[in-house]
Amino acid sequence: SKFKSGLEKSRNNLTEGLNDLFARYRKVDEDFFEELEEILIMADVGVNTVMELVEELKFEVKRKNIQDPKEVQEVISEKLVELYKGNDLDDESFELKINPDGLTVVLFVGVNGVGKTTSIGKIAHKLKQEGKKVLLAAGDTFRAGAIEQLEVWGDRVGVETIKQAAGSDPAAVMYDAVQAAKARKVDVLLCDTAGRLQNKVNLMKELEKVKNVISREVPGAPHEVLLVIDATTGQNGLVQAKTFRDATNVSGIVLTKLDGTAKGGIVLAIRNELKVPVKFVGLGEQMDDLQPFQAEQFVYGLFG
Ligand code: GDP
Repeated sequence: SKFKSGLEKSRNNLTEGLNDLFARYRKVDEDFFEELEEILIMADVGVNTVMELVEELKFEVKRKNIQDPKEVQEVISEKLVELYKGNDLDDESFELKINPDGLTVVLFVGVNGVGKTTSIGKIAHKLKQEGKKVLLAAGDTFRAGAIEQLEVWGDRVGVETIKQAAGSDPAAVMYDAVQAAKARKVDVLLCDTAGRLQNKVNLMKELEKVKNVISREVPGAPHEVLLVIDATTGQNGLVQAKTFRDATNVSGIVLTKLDGTAKGGIVLAIRNELKVPVKFVGLGEQMDDLQPFQAEQFVYGLFG
């Protein structure tokens, strides 16, 4: 599956470490767990998350009276899926939220270069394939080339882009885009935003203004604020994510470039430490290289 091939680097990295561990240990003891912790931390699962996980594993190993290290692997997978699903989020919170009563507005936030434009293009393609009418809003009026780049993606997948000149007010672009979406009876409006992190305060103010325009024009909108994070930046991505989450009410994560990292465990760290669900993962540069996130597929893609 796509998940499996996209996770190849992470899988090779993890299974190499784990197989080596399973081969060297005869029984499941403290040293075994310590080494296991190291392997998971190296895979970017995140220190806090690893600690929690290993606590649970120890408990489960005792409860099931597991002696053979090889049998621990299945328990790790089970626990990872459980940890991912958690009990603070329901099944629906892992899916893109669609407004049943009309226009759905999705705002994309994240710093430059993480794959925001690409992800908007891929999601537009996916929604279009589902038969939805989609419109793009070129809300990054700051970065040179951002508007054109979004339009190129729009043309590629066959959806229109609402834009204004470079340097214009993003809130004005959003206002236009929402009016156009209403007039054209669009199902989903996907909005790009600026991602310059050099001036965090201004960026957050701008996002707030954009959100206000959207919610004034469409009650209940934006229905999603998706934060795009680059998986290859590892724990740095997590720090970025916290900044955005604290400033903008992020409802979900798009984790890009998972194909380019051997540290796919970052998915679990994000989920567990941000308490925000990963809704989509990017597994390549092409239109089809985006998958709705599924905990089982992911965990078994990582270990399978
Ligand atoms: P933006 O500045 O956040 O809008 O980033 P872009 O959408 O322009 O993406 C930056 C680069 O990352 C481009 O070269 C994309 O092709 C690449 N990219 C985006 N998503 C993925 C992904 O899931 N996998 C890989 N391998 N590359 C990606």
